Amino acid sequence: MKNKKVAIVTGGNRGIGLGITKTFIEAGYLVIVGARKSLNIENHENEGIFFVYTDVRKEKYHQNLVKYAIDKFGRLDVYVNNAGFSFWKPISEIEEIFLSEILDTNLKGAFWGCKAASKVMKSKATIINISSLAGKRGSSNNSAYVASKFGMNGLTQSLAKELGHRNIRVNAVCPVLIATDGLNEALKMDYAPGGKNPEKFIKNFTKSNSALMRMPTASEVGEMCVFLASESASAITGQCINVDCGVLPQ
Ligand code: NDP
Repeated sequence: MKNKKVAIVTGGNRGIGLGITKTFIEAGYLVIVGARKSLNIENHENEGIFFVYTDVRKEKYHQNLVKYAIDKFGRLDVYVNNAGFSFWKPISEIEEIFLSEILDTNLKGAFWGCKAASKVMKSKATIINISSLAGKRGSSNNSAYVASKFGMNGLTQSLAKELGHRNIRVNAVCPVLIATDGLNEALKMDYAPGGKNPEKFIKNFTKSNSALMRMPTASEVGEMCVFLASESASAITGQCINVDCGVLPQ
């Protein structure tokens, strides 16, 4: 384990986050996963995956993750703010508790991650925020989630400018629909697009929107993260890069 690079992935225990965790492991990193439910991988420490209980809504848990990396491995190379959730609601139904929950998790969680990570990071380290195509364009009944992801892209652009002089790069990855448990649950709720039939909705959306006639996978998001963390991306910072099979060419 000595001399291996170290990545922290919030929400790295399932869905897109698990895809990111696995891709960093394949690329030779050690990965520290921060989430509330434990990892469903046996002997994960033998594979170089370490779990630290984390609630991303609270700053102290991000500080804890970073401390774990430094105390155990003496370095932090990559911090991926991935934990988050989506939920469709029209403006008339948005109330205090819901709005706080989505902004605290998706946006403030990323702020605390960036703050904790940037405090200890050295030259060449990188922060990657998992945003969304919802961070690029608005959509109906989705204002809270969309605002959280636009906010994440703003955070990314600003911190790229703020941390660039220390050679710390900050980028965002913007995926489109990936059929994770989280997305499927959200698509079954009232006000979600697609009449509570996630499979049919994703199929129709793919047919009418995707240039490649398919949706991306969690491991393709992971590949983009590994690239952004690598020296091959040494001139790339402040970018919010779509991984969307050509749904929104920019
Ligand atoms: P999932 O619901 O499948 O997974 C969400 C992850 O976030 C879980 O690991 C969960 O872990 C973690 N998480 C949620 N809340 C918290 C919290 N308060 N503290 C710590 N961890 C938390 O979602 P996806 O994999 O689909 O989404 C991952 C990210 O990708 C999100 O930011 C989402 O907005 C973004 N995204 C997803 C797209 C999609 O189509 N799936 C498209 C574009 C972006 P636990 O519950 O154990 O805490």
